Amino acid sequence: MYRRYHLQASLAPDIAAVPSRFRVHVKKRGLASLIIKELIQYRGNQAVVMSRPCVYGVFSGPVGGFAPREHLCVGCLRCTTQYPEFVQIYPNPERKRLGDSYFTPDYVETLHYEARTGRVPVKGAGYRGRFGGEGWNGMWTDMSEIVRPTRDGIHGREFISTAVDIGPKLPFLSFDEQGRLKGQVPTALSLPIPMLFDAPPASVLSEKLAKVLAAAAQEAETLAILPISTVKKFGLSGEAIVPLVAAGDADAVKGLTFEPRMIELDGWNEDLHRQVQARFPKSIVCLRLDRLSQEEVVRSNRAGIRVFHLSLNYHGRGKSGQFALDVIRDAHTAFVEAGCRDEVTLLGSGGIVAAEHVPKAIIRGLDAVSLDTAVLVALQAQFVGDCTDRHSSQFQLPTKLDVNWGVQRAQNLLSSWRDQLLEVMGAMGLREVRRMRGEIGRAMFQVDLEREAFSGIEGYGS
Ligand code: SF4
Repeated sequence: MYRRYHLQASLAPDIAAVPSRFRVHVKKRGLASLIIKELIQYRGNQAVVMSRPCVYGVFSGPVGGFAPREHLCVGCLRCTTQYPEFVQIYPNPERKRLGDSYFTPDYVETLHYEARTGRVPVKGAGYRGRFGGEGWNGMWTDMSEIVRPTRDGIHGREFISTAVDIGPKLPFLSFDEQGRLKGQVPTALSLPIPMLFDAPPASVLSEKLAKVLAAAAQEAETLAILPISTVKKFGLSGEAIVPLVAAGDADAVKGLTFEPRMIELDGWNEDLHRQVQARFPKSIVCLRLDRLSQEEVVRSNRAGIRVFHLSLNYHGRGKSGQFALDVIRDAHTAFVEAGCRDEVTLLGSGGIVAAEHVPKAIIRGLDAVSLDTAVLVALQAQFVGDCTDRHSSQFQLPTKLDVNWGVQRAQNLLSSWRDQLLEVMGAMGLREVRRMRGEIGRAMFQVDLEREAFSGIEGYGS
């Protein structure tokens, strides 16, 4: 039976206070004289007088502009343009404590909106940011209507599939004379969205957080990777749970009371792999690595591994310092050169902190992304210093964290990011996310375009 996939987004207001973007400084004497003047002009109409000069309600509280409601300020600067002598708008220095040097306050703010509402952030005044830059910002998706017509996916008038298959696949199908499929079709998982939840760092991994990730993954029909010790400690089970096992976890694997659909090995360990396969022969085994070289691909292929998880640090960098765009491409190319790209699945995590990073990572070669810091930010976690390393980073979750609230926030995040993925695919004329993987010809890179335009010109590249 066909069933249309749907993620139920609903309002989940912030539970921790978020610093406003702007500080509104008002000189009380100047404001008082304006109010007196306008009380006369508007014949005592208090509603009008107390709302001036801001249409966003900053000056409309019980005592008007004498206690401005800074959280409503959008920074339009109308007030300070009209009354520079007594209103000044400043960026709020407290906002800098949101996120860290990579997950900047702008990303955090956007993500809070997405997790709060489940909606696509639309500014209405057009894009005001930079058109290029470092990392993900140096890559653009090709939305040319001339190349391919757009497709209307987000409003449901045209179907765009976001489903991905995780697991071993056949390179091709072959049939006997009666038209029957020859050989066995390997088991793969089909997820309706190319997004999973990654294992959180130990510093923040509590029972509540584990339950939020497990329940949100179950609800969204996706997967949550969690350390096997956490799975056992909190008695978690179900289709959505992917136990993460490392050397020394062999006993924990033996004692697991349910058969996971997938198990992730934290680094290659032949003995552990054998033990996992012996205990759960039907489970898909995924190998988590920080880089994938040609030799690694050949060795893993021989060992029968068909699912890989490329794990970068939280700032999207691999061990050698390369950024995600290059590390992912290298891994994808290693599979292509080994002639097995269509038979394996490549997951990736690290540095994916905005909705647009998902299609970009997929275009570079991932099949699906595993979300790490993005989910923590959706749950209003605070960064303690710069959080780069998966093992040592420190986050603080709100003390009032509630499981139901957390599940809704995580679901809202997935819903918003899926809608944005549909927007991108629709604009690119793609009808399924599986076809987007590795489609490098549908993207443009700032370095390439600049080279084409400026190479040979004196001063270029200096
Ligand atoms: S900057 Fe705009 S939104 Fe902020 S207080 Fe002034 S008028 Fe209101």
